[in-house]
Amino acid sequence: MHVVVGTAGHIDHGKSALVKALTGTDPDRLKEEKERGMTTDLGFAFLSENVTIIDVPGHEKFVRHMLAGASTIDLVMLVVAADDSVMPQTREHFEICRLMGIRHGLVAVNKADLVDDDWLEMVKQDVAQLVAGSFLEGAPVVAVSAVTGKGIPELKQTLAELVARMPAKPDRGVFRMPIDRSFSIKGFGTVVAGTVLSGRCRLGDKLELLPEQSEVKVRGIQVHNQAVEAAVLGDRAALNLQGVERELVERGNVLATAGYYQPTDCLNATLYCLRSMARPLKNLSRVRVHIGTAEAIGRVAILNEPALGPNSEGLVQFRLEQPVVCDWGDRFVVRAYAPPETLGGGVVLEASAGKERRFDEAVLGRLRAILSGDTGSVLEQYLVKCGYDVHTAGAVRKEIALSDEDMARVLDQLLRQGKVVKFAHEGKEYLVHFQSLGSARELLLAALAEFHRQNPVRLGMKRAELREKAGRGFAVPLFDLVTGELVAEGKVVEEQDRLRLAGHEVRLKPDEQTLFDKVAAQFRDAGFETPSFDDALALAQPRLKDRVRVALVETGTLVDVGEGVVMHRDAIAEARKRIVTLFGRKPELTASEIRQDLGTSRKYAIPLLNYFDSHGLTQRKGEVRILRLAKHEDPKSSKPEQHERG
Ligand code: GDP
Repeated sequence: MHVVVGTAGHIDHGKSALVKALTGTDPDRLKEEKERGMTTDLGFAFLSENVTIIDVPGHEKFVRHMLAGASTIDLVMLVVAADDSVMPQTREHFEICRLMGIRHGLVAVNKADLVDDDWLEMVKQDVAQLVAGSFLEGAPVVAVSAVTGKGIPELKQTLAELVARMPAKPDRGVFRMPIDRSFSIKGFGTVVAGTVLSGRCRLGDKLELLPEQSEVKVRGIQVHNQAVEAAVLGDRAALNLQGVERELVERGNVLATAGYYQPTDCLNATLYCLRSMARPLKNLSRVRVHIGTAEAIGRVAILNEPALGPNSEGLVQFRLEQPVVCDWGDRFVVRAYAPPETLGGGVVLEASAGKERRFDEAVLGRLRAILSGDTGSVLEQYLVKCGYDVHTAGAVRKEIALSDEDMARVLDQLLRQGKVVKFAHEGKEYLVHFQSLGSARELLLAALAEFHRQNPVRLGMKRAELREKAGRGFAVPLFDLVTGELVAEGKVVEEQDRLRLAGHEVRLKPDEQTLFDKVAAQFRDAGFETPSFDDALALAQPRLKDRVRVALVETGTLVDVGEGVVMHRDAIAEARKRIVTLFGRKPELTASEIRQDLGTSRKYAIPLLNYFDSHGLTQRKGEVRILRLAKHEDPKSSKPEQHERG
C-alpha cells in the first residue's frame, strides 16, 4: 500500500530541512524539480518505495497546499521547533489535519541541538497539551535535529513502523483523482498530477475530466518516477492525457471514471467550527470551501441552528459560486472569505442537493441518518430522498458512486432487511425504499377516494390522470407497480380504461337514474342508427343533463365512437360479432361491404369502423380492411405510456 505523509508546522521550524534529512530530496528546490519534467512534483519527496512525503513551504501557500493535499494525506508529521515550541501556525495546521480527518501521525521536535534537556521536556509538555483528545494523543514524539542529524534514524524508524501499521484504505472502486498540478511537456502534451482517491486507472483508459465533463484518454502513467501500467488508490500519479489542452486543466479539476460524478454547486454537509473562531458563523456567510484540490467560494446556509458558535457543529448547505466535484464522505475545510482565517471543516453528506429549507425536520433527519452511517445507509437515504422518482439500480449506483461489488453487497443487505424493494419494469430493475412504496400506495388510494368524492357520477380516473394527480415526480415504473399491486389485491378495479376504488360505483339520484334508463333504452333500441346526444337529451331537465350524460359514458353504457356518433354498448358488441363472422367468410372486406352487412349508412359505419381500427379489431390496408387476430378490444390491454427516463 502506498502511504502519503504530510508535514505540518510553524514556518521556519524546519519542515523542509527535515524532509531533506529524511529523503535526501530538498523540497525547496522547486525550480530544479520543475525542469525535471513530469516525473517530479512540487514539494514531493520519496522516503521509500511506498512512502511519499509532501512538503510545501511558505505560510499562506502552505495552508492552501496543505488543504489541497490534505484530503490525500494518510499520516502527518507535525514539526515543532524546540527553541520556539507550539506557535499559531502549529495550531492552525494541526487543526486542519483534524478537520481533514487525518487519523495517524507523529510529532518531530526539531532543532533539539539548540536546547537543553529540561527545555526539551517543557516543549514536549506543550505538545502533549496541544494534541490532547485528538488523533495525535499518545502518538510518538521524536526529538531530532535536521542540522546535526541526531534522532533522524529514530525518526525514520518510527515513520516506517507507523506506515507498516497503517490500515488499508477502503476503496469505493470508482477511479477518482483530484488534480493538484498540471503542466505540458514538449512533444508529450498535457500532464496532470494528483493522488488517486479511489479505484484504479490503466493505460488507454478513457476518463472524464470534471467539471468540464470532457473525455480524455490516458496515454502515459508514472508513479514514483516510474512508467507503469496502472495507478491505484493512494498512488501519487502523473498522467499524460490525450484529448485536452493544458490550458483547460487546472488545480481543483478532477479525473474520474466517466459518468459517475456530476459537478455540483450545492451540497449538504456537517460543519464543525473551531474553538479559535473569532466570532459566530452567521447563516449565509460567504466562505471559501476547500475540497479535494479545489477552492470554491460560496455561502453557507446553517440548516439546524440560527448560527454556529466556536467549538460547535451543525448541518449546513453550501451554495457555491462555481461547481466542484466531490462525493459523500469527503472532508473539507472552510475558511473565511477575507481574511482567510480557518473557521472549521466537515464531511460531505450529500454531494448534490437541491436548495433546502432551514429547520426542515425531514431534511435534518435524512442528513443525520447519513451522518451516522455506512455505505448501506447512504444508499438507503438516497432512495428515501428519491421517493417516488424511482431509478434503476445502475443509475443509483452511479449517483452515489459505488463500485459494482459494494453496491451488490449493501443492496443485498437492504433487500434482505426489507428496507428496499427491487422490481422489474419493461425489462429494467428499479429500486424503491419500502417507505416510499407504502406511502405511494396510500397516496394513490387517497387520490382515487378524493376523485370519487368530487365526481360521484364518474366511474374513475384514467391512468395518466391519476398519475398526474400523484405529482410530477411520480415515475411511471412505480406507478405501474403500485396500481398493479392494488388491482391484484382487489383494492382497485381497472375497467373501461379507468381506475377506481373497489367499492365505488357511479351513484345517481332517483330522477337522474330514471333519465339514465330512459336514454340508455332509447340508444339500445336505435341499434346502429343512433340519435345524437343532444337530441336524445333535448327534453330533459338542464339540471340532470350533464350528470346523466357523463354517467352514461363513464359506466360504458354508451360509447363515443367518434365524429359525434354515440352507440349503446350492446350495439357495439353486436357489430363486433357480425364483423368477425363476416371476416370468417372473406379475409378482406371493403368499408362498403361491412356497412351493407350492418345495414346502416356511411354516417354511422365509417366512425364505427375507425373505432374498431383504433381498438385493434380491424386494420385498414388501402381500400380494404383485415381482421387483426392478435388483439381484441379490451381497455385493460391498452399499454400504459412509455417510461420517459428510458
Ligand atoms: P520550514 O519553513 O519549516 O520548512 O523550515 P526550513 O526547513 O526552511 O528551516 C528553517 C530554518 O531553520 C533554516 O534556516 C534551517 O537551516 C533551520 N533549521 C532547520 N532544522 C534545524 C535544526 O534541526 N537545527 C537548527 N539549528 N536549525 C535548523
